[in-house]
Amino acid sequence: MKEIILLKDGEIVLKGLNRRTFEDILKKNLKNVLASVGKFEITSAQSTIYVRSLSDEVDLDEACDRISRIFGIVAFSRAAVCEEKTLESVLDTAPKYLKDELEQAKTFKVEAKRSDKKFPYKSPEICRELGGKILEVYPHLTVDVHNPDIVVNVEIRDFGAYIHSNPLKGAGGIPVGTGGNAVILISGGIDSPVAAYMMAKRGIRLTAVHFASPPYTSRRAEEKVVRLLRKVSRYSGPMTMYTVPFTKIQEKIKDECPEELFTIIMRRLMMEMSEKIALDNGCAALITGESLGQVASQTIGAIACTDEAANMPVFRPLIGMDKQEIIDISYKIDTYETSIEPYEDCCTVFTPKHPRTRPVLKYVKEAQEKAGFEPLVEEALQNLKKTFINAED
Ligand code: ATP
Ligand code: MG
Repeated sequence: MKEIILLKDGEIVLKGLNRRTFEDILKKNLKNVLASVGKFEITSAQSTIYVRSLSDEVDLDEACDRISRIFGIVAFSRAAVCEEKTLESVLDTAPKYLKDELEQAKTFKVEAKRSDKKFPYKSPEICRELGGKILEVYPHLTVDVHNPDIVVNVEIRDFGAYIHSNPLKGAGGIPVGTGGNAVILISGGIDSPVAAYMMAKRGIRLTAVHFASPPYTSRRAEEKVVRLLRKVSRYSGPMTMYTVPFTKIQEKIKDECPEELFTIIMRRLMMEMSEKIALDNGCAALITGESLGQVASQTIGAIACTDEAANMPVFRPLIGMDKQEIIDISYKIDTYETSIEPYEDCCTVFTPKHPRTRPVLKYVKEAQEKAGFEPLVEEALQNLKKTFINAED
């Protein structure tokens, strides 16, 4: 039996004249993510995107799994294509296609949508006819219009008649690439991969920046970040990751700045350098995984000091979330188990015993300027390591 995948756009519908652009980007994202599954034709009509496989040997389960992580889709259905656009063909196809589900269900209802008004039967007639047919083939079933175990959907559209059961939930959000580009500051922790996922969900295309301080941080720590980003890229699409050699800068902070300001000065330098990388890569914002009050460097005062180091907007999508809420998302996107692998992050190198929770910007800047980081910042930016991240590597 021929099958098709029908996708329902999400918030795209709200975008008025930009709708075409949004839909084109969504289709391109779908095409990219399905390229290694098989050959597909992707078209759109009547606020639905049609994904048709062009050969029989395609793994549609894999295609659906990938589609479930594409932002911009609220719901999708794997559907049977009736051989002909006739009532007879609908009555013949539905009981066969949904056999397993109908056998297991106790109650059902039929819902029909007829967007091709030339079809000679109206929706209530289609429902009545198909309802009768299903009861004939599966006499154990009863009709329940309010709370059925399964809804048998019939869609009579311009290109054909389709049958599917309860739609699957899409990833929501808006298509990656419609919201501009931003740099995610990524550590190996739980929070920053979740922050990356959340901003990709709002249409942002990501470039990742990771600060590494070998030998204080290990090769394995950086490799863990790559694995985390690969998981994120199943949602966000491929991205470039820059690893910044941060050792000399951290050693200088330790040698020349007041201990209680180590973390805050380090974080300011991270922002400053990330902003430079962002500008070089066409990115217009920074993203961090900070959550208010989670640690000493994430108080209002500390964030004010960090913020001042960059001119770009800084997005902190986790700012009002509890740790458990963040963990729940990290489970959902499958980054949790990787995040908790115990490798040292550069943030835990030279951590002060008593970090300032209420740093005064004036003193922080004075300490930073006195040490003078410009030459080392320049040198580090000349020596970035570039890694290409792709979900399938
Ligand atoms: P995470 O779980 O993401 O590591 P965290 O709770 O450990 O976050 P911090 O270590 O204070 O918090 O870091 C706050 C944010 O700073 C991180 O979410 C991340 O965006 C950024 N950050 C921290 N360490 C690094 C790093 N080594 N490279 C790039 N960004 C980093
Ligand atoms: Mg961290």
